[in-house]
Amino acid sequence: MQIGADKVVSFHYRLSETNGELLESSHDAEPTLYLHGHNNLLAAMEQAMEGKQAGDKFTVELSPEQGYGQRKEGAVQRIPIKHLLDYAKLKNKLKPGMKVAVNTEHGPWEAVVLKVGKFNVDIDSNHPLAGKQLTFEIEIVDVREATEEELAHGHAHGVGGHHHH
Ligand code: ZN
Repeated sequence: MQIGADKVVSFHYRLSETNGELLESSHDAEPTLYLHGHNNLLAAMEQAMEGKQAGDKFTVELSPEQGYGQRKEGAVQRIPIKHLLDYAKLKNKLKPGMKVAVNTEHGPWEAVVLKVGKFNVDIDSNHPLAGKQLTFEIEIVDVREATEEELAHGHAHGVGGHHHH
């Protein structure tokens, strides 16, 4: 079965900075699951997935514009530690370089800790991958039809996909 609209795709990936270090890999966990054609992946990534099938291995290169955007000036902020998601758990563990989520009126926003104070934390709210040229090595594990429920929700269900609690 080929990848196209309304297919649920299961895949493994290795993400590196192009000609640089490995940033993330799914190979030591369950494959990632997504519903194709519902804006669940970066657009350039969905284009590269189109027409592929189980067993296919390929490489996708993304410019910052196709990926997570250019780094923005002014994205460095000092905020109260209690504005971090799960701050009670994080309080004594915060370290520079750590990824955190900040509660905002638009939902949690990913940021990187720069400096930790007693009550405040300096964060960089640029996406950690902003400004980077990225290489994804993809391996398609499985392609199947989406269920009615998945189509209604706009995302894939199951291990590696969306979980409802
Ligand atoms: Zn759902």
